[in-house]
Amino acid sequence: MQRSVPLSPLTTLRVGGPAARLVSVASEDELVAALADAGAHHEPLLVLGGGSNVLVADEGFPGLVVRMAIRGVSARRAGDRMVVDVGAGEDWDAFAAQAVGEGWGGVASLAGIPGLVGATPIQNVGAYGEEVADTIAEVRVFDRAAGAFVDKAPAACGFGYRASIFKRSDRWVVTRVRFVFERGTDAPVRYAELARALGVAEGGAAPAARVRETVLALRRGKGMVLDAGDPDSVSAGSFFTNPVVDAQTATRVEAVAGAAPPRFPAEGDRVKLAAAWLVERAGFPRGWGEGPAGVSRKHALALVNRGGATARDLVAVARAIRDGVRARFGVTLEVEPVLVGCALD
Ligand SMILES: Cc1cc2nc3c(=O)[nH]c(=O)nc-3n(C[C@H](O)[C@H](O)[C@H](O)COP(=O)(O)OP(=O)(O)OC[C@H]3O[C@@H](n4cnc5c(N)ncnc54)[C@H](O)[C@@H]3O)c2cc1C
Repeated sequence: MQRSVPLSPLTTLRVGGPAARLVSVASEDELVAALADAGAHHEPLLVLGGGSNVLVADEGFPGLVVRMAIRGVSARRAGDRMVVDVGAGEDWDAFAAQAVGEGWGGVASLAGIPGLVGATPIQNVGAYGEEVADTIAEVRVFDRAAGAFVDKAPAACGFGYRASIFKRSDRWVVTRVRFVFERGTDAPVRYAELARALGVAEGGAAPAARVRETVLALRRGKGMVLDAGDPDSVSAGSFFTNPVVDAQTATRVEAVAGAAPPRFPAEGDRVKLAAAWLVERAGFPRGWGEGPAGVSRKHALALVNRGGATARDLVAVARAIRDGVRARFGVTLEVEPVLVGCALD
């Protein structure tokens, strides 16, 4: 147990004040002991994985931060499929690379997403037409309300677009994720940009290893792979989710912009609009912002810490963008990362 631990080095945005207390847990028993300790001290709890989807306030966190370090990958065959249990503290991208190498299908397009396996169900991570929920068979959590471990089936996880019941809740701590993979060396290609880069038809397939490498190359071009040599990767990934709107709103956006926004089908007759497109057309191009925080030069949805930015700087940039998009298009962008101790309003 450490006291007054700076959180900025533990996050990819490199901002955030100290945690009152911080402990790493490498087993479920250690987790239970840490949670009991937080309860005894009436402290708030923050579980931290790789820190790649959080914006922590400059004031820090006034409670216990639990760093997830439960490791282990165990695989068994079940007919044509592989059932793989992965500790929440395993690195996601290392595991995704292993899956491709072993011929476990379903995560080749999720290459290069930073963070730990235990965080992937939290916002149902997704990219290039794949979501982690497509291969999750069970999420093992400690339910703090019930005081017990529970193995949750996907239907009980509330998975949606960058969403689950776990996001922005401190009730559940994920300790293990069970995946079920189809075996095979080809991966589906479900995203137009990826299909173009691979030279295959959208809806077709390509060798999983090639899909992985191509996704990594596309992501590097957008600053979406953590890279100490790339200042545009000092971010939390996309800062806003793509808004899901009704057909009338999509038509209004097109009329205001004088051009059709990129759109994807969503639930019912709703459509998902590309948030990056809205941001750029509302007057926030790549590289926007004079100060230490601003828009990445490689992707309009990533806010970056250019060096010395505070959480306040990042919140101010995010607020300007959200308000600018709302004023121009009447669409309110939602923040994707979890804001810890800070807010846009
Ligand atoms: C460069 C870059 C690119 C990115 N690209 C993508 C992308 O393509 N697609 C995508 O979906 N995301 C993307 N992200 C966001 C991020 O990588 C993912 O959301 C990732 O799953 C977060 O993992 P983490 O371990 O860093 O979580 P953290 O940032 O540590 O935590 C995120 C949230 O999950 C909670 N949490 C973490 N672990 C647990 C646990 N074991 N139990 C309970 N709660 C937990 C935390 O309390 C916090 O609320 C990107 C981020 C960056 C920096």
